[in-house]
Amino acid sequence: MSHIFGPVPSRRLGYSLGIDAVPFKVCTLNCVYCQVGRTSVKTLERKQWIAPQAILDDLRNILAKEEKIDFITFSGSGEPTLNSALGEMIGRIKDMTSTPVAVLTNGTLFHLPEVRRDVIEANVIVPSFDAVSPDVFARLNRPHPELTVEHMVEGLKLLRKEFRGQIWLEVMIVKNINDSMDELKKIAAALHDISPDKIQINSVFRPAAERNIEPALMETLELAKVLFGETAEIIEEFRSDRHNAVVDDIKGAIIQLIKRRPCAVGDISKSLGIHEAILTTHLEILLQEQRIKEVIHRGIKFYQT
Ligand code: SF4
Repeated sequence: MSHIFGPVPSRRLGYSLGIDAVPFKVCTLNCVYCQVGRTSVKTLERKQWIAPQAILDDLRNILAKEEKIDFITFSGSGEPTLNSALGEMIGRIKDMTSTPVAVLTNGTLFHLPEVRRDVIEANVIVPSFDAVSPDVFARLNRPHPELTVEHMVEGLKLLRKEFRGQIWLEVMIVKNINDSMDELKKIAAALHDISPDKIQINSVFRPAAERNIEPALMETLELAKVLFGETAEIIEEFRSDRHNAVVDDIKGAIIQLIKRRPCAVGDISKSLGIHEAILTTHLEILLQEQRIKEVIHRGIKFYQT
C-alpha cells in the first residue's frame, strides 16, 4: 500500500500531497473529533513505524507524475512525529524537490528536543491545541496517560523559539466540551505565550470518531476569534478548482483518498480533477460493490471506506 495520498484539497495548504508516516492508527491521542477513526495504538514510542526508504520511493514516483502540488504534508492516519525518521525524511525531501513541506501534528511531543530537531527543516508546522484544563483535555483529546498540557505548552513555546518557519496552530472547538468562556480564555492565554504565526479556529465539519459530537456555534467561533487576537482566523471551506489531473484508476484513486478521511463528492472532484457527474457513477458502483459507505453528516453526504 502506498504511504502517499492525494493531492487532497486542504483548507489550509491548497493542494496537499499527504504522507502517512505511521500506520493506521498510531497516535499519542484519541480525539473525539478525529476524522480517521479511533486510535488503535495509543503510544509515546518513537520508532521507524514505516521505513523512510519506502515513503521516499513512493514520493519520488508520484512527484514525477503530479503537475500541481502546493505542499508535501506529513499527516495521514496518526501522529507523524512518532516516526523517529521524520527529520531524515524531511531532509531528503528537501534534496528532492523545492515544494514546501508541512507537518500536521497534534503537538504533544515538542517537549522532546529530538522531535523539535526533526521538524526544524520543515516550512510550516500545523500543531493542534484544544484545551488547557486537564478534565477538558482528557474528555476531548483522550491522551496517553503520561501526557500533560504543561508538557505541550512548554514544548510549543520551545518550538516557537527554535523553529524559523511558520507555525499555524489549530484550535478545534467542539460544542459542550471546550466551548465555554472559561476554557476559551484559558486557551487564549496559552496561545499568547506560545505565539504562533497564525491561529486557525476549526470545528467538526466532517464525520468524526465519535458520532455524538457537534460543531461549535458560529457565534462561539467568532468569540474565540476575538479572544485569540488578530492572528486568529476561522477556517473557511476550501474553494479552488482543478481541471487537468490525470487519474489512471478512478475507483482506486477514490478509495485511496477517502480511506484517509471522509470526503463529500465536491472534495473528491477537486482533489482528483474529475467532474462530479463522472464521479457519481463510480461512487455508485463502489457502493454497490460494498467497497465504500456513505454517511450523512449535518445534511451533507460523505463517502468513507
Ligand atoms: S485528530 Fe490527530 S491527534 Fe487526534 S486522534 Fe486523530 S490523528 Fe491523533
